[in-house]
Amino acid sequence: MSDCIFCKIVKGEIPAGKIYEDEELLAFHDVNPQAPVHFLVIPKKHIPDVMKLGREETPLLGRLLYKAQELAAELGCAEKGARFVINCKADGGQTVDHIHCHVLGGRPLDWPPG
Ligand code: 5GP
Ligand code: ZN
Repeated sequence: MSDCIFCKIVKGEIPAGKIYEDEELLAFHDVNPQAPVHFLVIPKKHIPDVMKLGREETPLLGRLLYKAQELAAELGCAEKGARFVINCKADGGQTVDHIHCHVLGGRPLDWPPG
């Protein structure tokens, strides 16, 4: 998707604070962090949102969640935990239409969200 911000980050056209990259996944710090730890893990493949996830993409999302867990641990969240969030479409508060998992940690987080 040529107009997708996260595809542009994947292609290196927009800078990001990258913390992990392999052939299918990318993780980078959120530009507007809501917690001491706040990063995003995305597939390099442009999947718009959870509602458009195909069954064939479920292994990829499993690897994405596992990488999110590993990185959360590396950033100090293993003991106290973190929140792993995927917003979806308007009611879910999604603002970038390229599926991504937020990882928030480093402080206690309120629940439920507003
Ligand atoms: P959503 O609301 O779609 O779940 O989350 C999108 C997230 O992407 C937001 O937390 C926002 O701060 C972050 N974001 C938007 N544009 C950029 C960008 O260009 N660079 C980085 N690092 N994060 C971004
Ligand atoms: Zn994209």
